[in-house]
Amino acid sequence: MLTFLLLPAIVVSVLVLSGVMFRSSFQLEKLREQSVVEATLSLANERADRLDKRIIEQDNAVRSVLDLTERAEFGRQWLETAALSTPTVRAVLLVDLGSPLHNVVALASRAPELETERFRRLLVHRLLPEMKLDKPPLDELRHLHKVEREKAYLLSHWEQSVAERHYLVVVWHDVPRIVHDVFPTLYSDMQQSRVNVVDADGKIVFGPPLGRGGLTLGRQFETTLYKWTLNVTMNSAEELAAAVARRRVLEMVLVGLSSIVVIAGLFVILIAAERERRLSNLKSEFVANVSHELKTPLALVRMFGELLQTGRADTEEKRKQYLSIIVNESDRLNALIENVLDFAKVERGQAAYEFSPARLAEPVARAVEACRVRAERDGVSLELTSEDGPELMIDERAIEIAVINLVDNALKYAPDGKRVSVVMRHVPSGAEVLVADQGPGIPPEDRKRIFERFVRGKSASGKQVRGSGIGLSLVKHIAEAHGGSVRIEHTSPQGSLFTLRLPRR
Ligand code: ADP
Repeated sequence: MLTFLLLPAIVVSVLVLSGVMFRSSFQLEKLREQSVVEATLSLANERADRLDKRIIEQDNAVRSVLDLTERAEFGRQWLETAALSTPTVRAVLLVDLGSPLHNVVALASRAPELETERFRRLLVHRLLPEMKLDKPPLDELRHLHKVEREKAYLLSHWEQSVAERHYLVVVWHDVPRIVHDVFPTLYSDMQQSRVNVVDADGKIVFGPPLGRGGLTLGRQFETTLYKWTLNVTMNSAEELAAAVARRRVLEMVLVGLSSIVVIAGLFVILIAAERERRLSNLKSEFVANVSHELKTPLALVRMFGELLQTGRADTEEKRKQYLSIIVNESDRLNALIENVLDFAKVERGQAAYEFSPARLAEPVARAVEACRVRAERDGVSLELTSEDGPELMIDERAIEIAVINLVDNALKYAPDGKRVSVVMRHVPSGAEVLVADQGPGIPPEDRKRIFERFVRGKSASGKQVRGSGIGLSLVKHIAEAHGGSVRIEHTSPQGSLFTLRLPRR
């Protein structure tokens, strides 16, 4: 009962355990994914900041060499080292904020004249109005990122006062050059990730399309090209997603398999426990049966012995009869005890057979003779037909016990039958002993089972025939030890026919 309750409990625990395991592995993966998100984010931040830093460095380089006091000399010093120290700066312009028209009063440019002029006009008419000239602290560096006629502009600017005049210094950065020269140097060393830069409309300005899958994070350039966004895709995130999916499938298969193994194991244990329980019941029955089997002949021996002792057997004939009963019952007792002892040896794996060349007819005849008295008492004719033939390698005593068991069963279970016949014949493969009776036969469901130890069939329980359930298992063991077999050949309505086959060896 407890085992049957235990089974569902164990199954439920296995399911709960696998659920918990699955959930915690899921959470672990989530954590790992989170850490990849964090890593990607910090990478994107760091890369975006790098560009800002690179541009501001150049702004500061320009600033350090600009001298506003000598307007005629404006930017001359910068131009000397511009190509090296500030490669993305095209021009530096000085705007007079004191004049109402915000004239460009000085400039230094690395661009062709025409282009510089075009930029100057663009600055005055379109870009200056965009700049927040709301009296910020002097020298504060600011940036303007603007797209005009599909061209992107980046201006760094700060206000400065010289001799009580208010100026705006504008540094014109070459955006196409930033894209072609600076972006690749900043973003080419990234093996773990893919990078691109997109504009406000999502159009790619630099780098490849990042595609779907994997983890992509975007980060705007904070200070300089602030209309654009830097996108970073972690390759490892893609791999991680695939690995997580693979691992999940594997885990599910493992959990499923181990659950099946546990459940199957439990069933096997249950079946084994049930078998053990049945066997232990059979053993208890066996002990009771054997005790009973021993008690009956013993009681008869004692009873007739007492009759003789007290002189109540008054005639010689009676005395002889009593004595023969005592001898017969002692033989039965002896046979039974031998059976039990032999069986115990088989059970302990100590059954030892002594094979020697012998004629099979002899032990068979002895066995039949041992049963004859009983047959006569029961009024059954016991016939033996024996064939002469070559010697076989047999253990004579074991064969005798096997045949006694078969004949004893025939007499026991077929008391109403008139005849029990034993035939011993030689066949090409060896020899056969056939024991046939005219009893009730053996029902099909019993035919295999009755050769198992302690198992008693329907014919035993129906008619309350005494026995211990070890006879046929012993016969089977003996037959197999000789390399042969024992079978039920055909049964009811003609009775039972047991065949003991022994090979020629
Ligand atoms: P036991 O006779 O002590 O019960 P056995 O191992 O000799 O044990 O026999 C096992 C069972 O086989 C018997 O209980 C009986 O049901 C059945 N059996 C054996 N021989 C015969 C037979 N000749 N006729 C009918 N049933 C038989």
